[in-house]
Amino acid sequence: GTAIVWFRRDLRLCDNPALCEAVNNCKSVIPVYIHAPEEEAPWLPGQASNWWLHKSLSALSDSLQHAGSELIIAKGPSLTRLQEIASKTGATHLYWNRLYDPMTQARDSEIKQGMGEQGLHCHSFSSQLLIEPTTLKNKQGTPYKVFTAFWKVARQRLQEMTPPLPPINKLSAPKIPFPSLPLSSLELLSKSAWYNKFETFWQPGERGAHKQWEQFLYNSLPYYDEQRNFPAEEHTTRLSPHLHFGEITPKQLFWTLQHENDQSPGLSQSLDRLSAQLGWREFAHYTLFHFPHTATESMDSRFTKDHWNNSPDSREQLERWQRGETGIPIVDAGMKQLWQTGWMHNRVRMIVASLLTKNLGIHWLEGARWFWDTLVDADLANNTLGWQWTAGCGVDAAPYFRVFNPARQAERFDPAGRYIKTWLPEFSSADSHELINGRQPANNRLSYPLPMLDLQKTRKQTLERWQRIKTMP
Ligand code: FAD
Repeated sequence: GTAIVWFRRDLRLCDNPALCEAVNNCKSVIPVYIHAPEEEAPWLPGQASNWWLHKSLSALSDSLQHAGSELIIAKGPSLTRLQEIASKTGATHLYWNRLYDPMTQARDSEIKQGMGEQGLHCHSFSSQLLIEPTTLKNKQGTPYKVFTAFWKVARQRLQEMTPPLPPINKLSAPKIPFPSLPLSSLELLSKSAWYNKFETFWQPGERGAHKQWEQFLYNSLPYYDEQRNFPAEEHTTRLSPHLHFGEITPKQLFWTLQHENDQSPGLSQSLDRLSAQLGWREFAHYTLFHFPHTATESMDSRFTKDHWNNSPDSREQLERWQRGETGIPIVDAGMKQLWQTGWMHNRVRMIVASLLTKNLGIHWLEGARWFWDTLVDADLANNTLGWQWTAGCGVDAAPYFRVFNPARQAERFDPAGRYIKTWLPEFSSADSHELINGRQPANNRLSYPLPMLDLQKTRKQTLERWQRIKTMP
């Protein structure tokens, strides 16, 4: 028969179980992408994500052409479109790889039912995660809420992993073709073109993902454990957007890490550390799956609306933070890196998030929304976990009394100021005091603003507010 393979966030031909099974079981295969952002409400993909998606679909389309096939691009609603494609082409099977966020889960079960009613066979596969979220519970039969406990069990389980699947190089096209829309008709590239520079930093698509991974293994893996917290060093994988769009799978990464020989000194720590970071990604998706309300609400229900700063000034404070004009160099450098590259180093994400949610007391959702629109790796599970963890209202034993001091963080993790100087060129000849604390009134010669808040004072107020919450029943 003929199969539809419905591509979603699995834009690749290697290690793609839905595609492999379709090719193995059906005579001809129709690869389809359906654009239906409204089905992801309230988290419609942001502008940076859309830029990436455009490029990634274009890369996938090229690879499929090489394999003798064609990517059919269509617009939603997904169910209507899939039914139409099936009835026009005579397809009898529908294959996809599962996603775990609440909106997609609900949508996909409707589709399974709707297609079933039309007599189609639906087959879904696991490949976005290493561990199916339903299969892991603690002794009480409830979901884990602490990373270390989760990862201990998950890692054990991963000892028995099957190898990643080989690439699909040849696809036979269906007898009756279905017309594709041009990619440009999805209007994924916003008019403002602020993402102009992204292209110099990224190569979206499966080939770009593997190139990035190989470069990392060759240049950076041995330094990962020691250097991953230093934002000026480029020793993290930068695979987050590739992983989000499924251009490379966690299994491909984990498999390689497990089979890297750990002869060189320091390598085993780096292997463990990177595996654990992939574990955090698993944990974030696991948490969102089991606690879907956390996509818009704090996990800790004591953090009600009233907890957050709603003062008349808070709008302007938020905007200064977004523009990278807080007057705190490490924070502003991070916000500039985000704006110019669509990505920010993890250490700096924690610093800027702590300033917004703790020192300024602004709701984590405001920060999450800004990240959502500007990150090329915007990912509902990882973003939600990252923001709530930093704000101290999420899962895990994140100590709520931890308010990052940006100056101390800069001193420790950007000691020579290389990161700050990269993103704030006005600091190119600044001394270390200025790099850490910002400009002082006397020598504020340049346009760089004075710090918008008193770090010590706001820290004290924050601790009092969080203390009040944490002692509530
Ligand atoms: P590496 O250090 O090379 O790690 C490899 C992979 O592991 C990453 O690509 C990512 O998929 C996963 N990973 C690493 N750290 C984490 C983590 N703490 N939580 C979950 N997964 C992790 N990550 C996103 O992918 N999308 C987001 O929208 C996102 N928002 C965040 C918001 C905040 C406030 C914070 C503190 C963190 C956020 N993160 C997010 C997690 C983390 O910052 C990025 O995954 C990481 O910086 C990506 O860079 P990398 O690929 O070089 O990471």
